[in-house]
Amino acid sequence: MSAHDPNCIFCKIAQGKIPSRKVYEDEDILAFHDINPWAPVHFLMIPKLHIASLAQAEPEHEAVLGRMMVLAPKLALQEGCRPYPEGGFRLQINTGADGRQEVHHMHVHVIGGPRPWAKG
Ligand code: 5GP
Ligand code: ZN
Repeated sequence: MSAHDPNCIFCKIAQGKIPSRKVYEDEDILAFHDINPWAPVHFLMIPKLHIASLAQAEPEHEAVLGRMMVLAPKLALQEGCRPYPEGGFRLQINTGADGRQEVHHMHVHVIGGPRPWAKG
């Protein structure tokens, strides 16, 4: 599998070819605000490596996926989610057609902030 898919919008964002409002970036991970947020906090976390969906996750991806899980709560607080347990946030990974995945580069929605939310 190549690192980037030239037709993938999130690969283009990861490479800086399409602008995004960045929340966090390191060598392997990018987090950026969702273009169509449905809660006061709504950003996406992606591995820079092109993984089409969580259904394609393999043992070689455990490190980056694990790092994303540990990073998510820290970024959620930084972006305005209130602390656990009164506050909190929601992680959502839409996978495949039944999972209503629209962009086929694996991503974690991090959603939170004071309710009400537009959905969810
Ligand atoms: P999903 O694939 O999980 O259903 O949703 C993809 C998410 O990506 C949607 O919430 C949508 O608003 C967001 N999105 C799609 N295209 C772009 C884009 O070009 N920039 C940003 N920042 N978000 C996008
Ligand atoms: Zn991609």
